[in-house]
Amino acid sequence: MQRAIVIGAGFGGLALAIRLQSAGIATTLLEARDKPGGRAYVYEDAGFTFDAGPTVLTDPTCLEELFSLTGRTMDEYVSLVPVSPFYQLRWQDGTVFDYVNNQDQLDRQIHDINPRDVEGYARFLAYSKALLEEGYVKLGASPFLSMGSMLRVAPQLVRLKSYRTLYARVANFIEDERLRQAFSFHTLLVGGNPFATSAIYGLIHALERRWGVWFAEGGTGALIAALVQLFEELGGTMRLSAPVRRIETEGERVTGVRLATGERLRADLVASNADVMHTYKTLLGETARGQAETRRLSGKRYSNSLFVVYFGLDRDVPSDLPHHTILFGPRYRELIDEIFTGPGLPEDVSLYLHAPTKTDPSMAPEGMSAYYVLAPVPHLGAAPIDWDEVGPLYRDAILAEVERRAIPRLRETMVTCRTFTPADFSRELNAHLGSAFSLEPILTQSAFFRCHNRDDVYSNLYFVGAGTHPGAGVPGVVGSAKATARLIVGDAVPMPLAAE
Ligand SMILES: Cc1cc2nc3c(=O)[nH]c(=O)nc-3n(C[C@H](O)[C@H](O)[C@H](O)COP(=O)(O)OP(=O)(O)OC[C@H]3O[C@@H](n4cnc5c(N)ncnc54)[C@H](O)[C@@H]3O)c2cc1C
Repeated sequence: MQRAIVIGAGFGGLALAIRLQSAGIATTLLEARDKPGGRAYVYEDAGFTFDAGPTVLTDPTCLEELFSLTGRTMDEYVSLVPVSPFYQLRWQDGTVFDYVNNQDQLDRQIHDINPRDVEGYARFLAYSKALLEEGYVKLGASPFLSMGSMLRVAPQLVRLKSYRTLYARVANFIEDERLRQAFSFHTLLVGGNPFATSAIYGLIHALERRWGVWFAEGGTGALIAALVQLFEELGGTMRLSAPVRRIETEGERVTGVRLATGERLRADLVASNADVMHTYKTLLGETARGQAETRRLSGKRYSNSLFVVYFGLDRDVPSDLPHHTILFGPRYRELIDEIFTGPGLPEDVSLYLHAPTKTDPSMAPEGMSAYYVLAPVPHLGAAPIDWDEVGPLYRDAILAEVERRAIPRLRETMVTCRTFTPADFSRELNAHLGSAFSLEPILTQSAFFRCHNRDDVYSNLYFVGAGTHPGAGVPGVVGSAKATARLIVGDAVPMPLAAE
């Protein structure tokens, strides 16, 4: 029986481990932290449950497929409930837009803002659907290992004008600046600057319209627990608090890993779900290949970081606050520019506010409510801020802003609070420059130009997760696991994946 090691139990690592184990490859999943999930870690403070990262679940079919590989169904393990509105968008001028999955309601709200944009929105939606078909349904789980594979899809990418930026394309269809923001901000959820990222990311809109926005009962952590349960039921082995220090090599093959404890584990293949720079720089740092890739990756652009404040209140969620709210600040383009290029912390903020208790009261003690609020901020390379010093001040400023715009009396009813800063992304997750989403999703860093799902030199070393094709976000990394599993199963044994 083939033996595989997967380094890292993020969504991507878990999805790959399940696919490998389902295909009959004995798989060991090694996670550095004390809990699985990676960016989807869970904090439990004073009876509150805080999902650390992903909260907006789109395309549940990519998750369901992991269970159906072995004839199971996801709802035997975890329940997903629909969220509506998908998000509420609030601007400083008092405009409120409920982004719902109902055409009439959307058209009515767009009409109220700018009647001419109703027709423009219909054309944008058609464009977004075409992007979804080409960029996600056809190519989202296909590995791009050669320039030829890139050239084959180039005609479709050109036809869809994916060389334009997302904001520029949205602006071709929609006139009103607020609506342009409403239909371009989504890339920020996967680390993309709408003014720099390829218009192909406009597919996120159609993806949400097609499959909806969901929340896992018990939180995203319950979904992670379900994936772990599935993996272990299939016979896979997961080891927590098991940081890998080295990937061991012999010629052009990898032979296994060495843990921080010195323990050595041998395997027929290794797949890394850890940060791509960490993998080459630290885990392969003694090899010529590791050093060469480190130099190459040093020249790449990395996504922004995030500053996240998790807090619990000793009272219920305000009745007018939905599950997901975007609080736009006074500036859009200029703020995003500063977030992606620094050189310091922008003076204003745009925030995403998560209120899970709105959908699932079990996320907080009875009568109380759990939240997180995040602000996109520059990564440590763009703004080398001392977060241990600045963090508490920034937290206070953000909480004051949320109190002003969304949750009155927030600070006097707060009973628990913790933060996660760019420095934590770097320290806790080995994220290069503390980036929250790995390589920035621009056209010249996508598909073939992203980190390959199989290493170009070590023929049995694979990658999965946000730094690989197709990129960050839960559907992205779960899609990358499918692409990587296709390569491994094709390389290792002629055994088709059950769902294909
Ligand atoms: C605050 C936040 C909110 C987000 N919201 C959403 C959302 O609503 N919807 C959405 O779709 N996406 C969202 N995202 C993006 C999404 O969470 C990520 O793109 C995705 O979860 C990354 O998964 P991954 O497989 O790349 O692995 P990661 O989650 O990055 O996990 C990698 C794992 O590798 C482990 N590791 C690292 N080094 C080692 C080592 N040496 N040895 C062993 N283990 C190691 C780490 O501890 C970690 O557990 C959000 C991200 C953040 C940070």
